[in-house]
Amino acid sequence: MVSGGYKDDQDHGDVIVYTGHGGQDGAKNQISDQSLDDPGNAALVTSYLEGQLVRVIRGAHRNSQYAPRSGYRYDGLYRVTSYGSTVGADGHRIWQFRLEADQRGDIPEHSAQEAQLPLQGLLVEAPIGVASPARVRREIQRTVRNSRVIRQVKSWHGGVCQLCGLAVVLPGGVYSEGAHIQALGDPYNGPDTTDNVLCLCPTCHVMFDGGAIVLTDELDIVRHGAKVGTLRTHPQHVIDLARVRSHRERWRG
Ligand SMILES: [Zn+2]
Repeated sequence: MVSGGYKDDQDHGDVIVYTGHGGQDGAKNQISDQSLDDPGNAALVTSYLEGQLVRVIRGAHRNSQYAPRSGYRYDGLYRVTSYGSTVGADGHRIWQFRLEADQRGDIPEHSAQEAQLPLQGLLVEAPIGVASPARVRREIQRTVRNSRVIRQVKSWHGGVCQLCGLAVVLPGGVYSEGAHIQALGDPYNGPDTTDNVLCLCPTCHVMFDGGAIVLTDELDIVRHGAKVGTLRTHPQHVIDLARVRSHRERWRG
């Protein structure tokens, strides 16, 4: 609900800097620090960690050109793309969440094809870009909505990477990504089932999607051609070896 209740809010239309909940008196002055333990703030952290979209409703108020003139208006789905704390206008610590309008509608679980950047584009002499990139659209969205399937796999592993054992612990929870072994969509057409999904850290996800890591039929981890360990498993998390083979075939070169 964006209704002008927090003076540190910023409303840029498709991007909203949303101040977390709590710490206010009846006159909307910030009189104490906010906490991520507040249920409203914890819910936004969960939305970030799980890639779940949030519905934004704007209420009438004077501080935003995007607010309705009166009443309330449903403004669609937004994604929590980052969060952090700062000292607000009233001198107390507040938590702020960046919300970006989800313009692409139903985003597939992830797309290996989109993750490949043209490397030569990065070789430039001078810094390029803009000084205030707040409104530049992100070209790659790796954090996507979690299916029930991915949430289940993450839950079995507690967010710990099955390849390297890393748990990316953030304030409020553990961040991990669901990686399809045999990629979804054309031309691979892997299924969205738990036996085709791994719980990975972002680095291992990129390496696995890009073929720098493959698995053997014994679920040994082969990185750049060398065996470096064995996949972490869970008794309830059965892996479909046909998917493992399919992924390996794709990167055999
Ligand atoms: Zn990892």
